[in-house]
Amino acid sequence: MNKKDKDLEALNELENNSKQSTNEENSLDKETQVTKEYFENKKASIIDGFKILERIDMPQEGILYPENWNFAYRCPTSKEVANFSTIDENDKPAIVAAVEDLIRKCFVIFDSESNNQISSGQINDAHRTFFLLLLRDFYLPGSPITYDTICSLHKEQIPIILNAFKLKYNELNQKLINSFDGRKFSLNMPKVDEPIEFLIPTIEITGRIFKYVVNVYRNSQNDRENKDDKLVYDKQFLLVAPYLYERGNESVKELIQKFKKLQEDDNRFKAYIQIINKLKLDNLDFIETVCPVCGSLEETQIRFPGGWKGMFIDKEDTTGYFD
Ligand SMILES: [Zn+2]
Repeated sequence: MNKKDKDLEALNELENNSKQSTNEENSLDKETQVTKEYFENKKASIIDGFKILERIDMPQEGILYPENWNFAYRCPTSKEVANFSTIDENDKPAIVAAVEDLIRKCFVIFDSESNNQISSGQINDAHRTFFLLLLRDFYLPGSPITYDTICSLHKEQIPIILNAFKLKYNELNQKLINSFDGRKFSLNMPKVDEPIEFLIPTIEITGRIFKYVVNVYRNSQNDRENKDDKLVYDKQFLLVAPYLYERGNESVKELIQKFKKLQEDDNRFKAYIQIINKLKLDNLDFIETVCPVCGSLEETQIRFPGGWKGMFIDKEDTTGYFD
């Protein structure tokens, strides 16, 4: 039996387990179904080396993207993923840049209404781990990230499998969805006259802010007097900056001006901070697994055991040389 069949069998088993149990596990049923469909579709949906990413398989079933956007992706080349093995695990800007670069290279977005290709930099920042894990699965098929945990009920070690479809997201409330047009939020906040409008942070936006901060840091070695540049280190500015875009092509200098104005309007500033703290679009930091031994539903922290460096390196060695 090959690895894929084993995975499928394990999934079927999971499904049967959750069918036997009560309604509590409805959400898990659905998750299993999505994962199973993914494995079944895997072979069928490859066109010219590109895999279609179905909307139902996307985080929140794709609700955070315009309806007429279609996503597909190709497998990263070994040259492209080689960059990852040179990453310094503590260099956050380098990690952000490497992930953005790989996602942008491998994904395509096509707008079926306007017949235009959309920049893959438009992928939401909150979904970067999902998109990266899809690429990892494509590059290392049948070799998911695995690690062990201790089952809290029967107290023995069990294996955890982490892939894109295991990621969990907060459910978005209908009023919030109604205030979103596929790219832009428009929220009416208390004590604020006009609605607060902002583009959903994308990997491109996050990358641009990071690059600017790194450049300013380098230049600051020579010039310590520029006040605007000092603001860039301001933690509050870095927190708010990704939510200040309205057109998408604003320069960071423009954002700095907007931020200064915002600080002068107490109610509006407060509303921004409230939005940023409550708008949880990212994946949660744990995944769920049904214990294959006792059926207990286990929550486990997301981990990348090989770090960023090892993201595209197969843990299992089939050559026999490196065991
Ligand atoms: Zn157990």
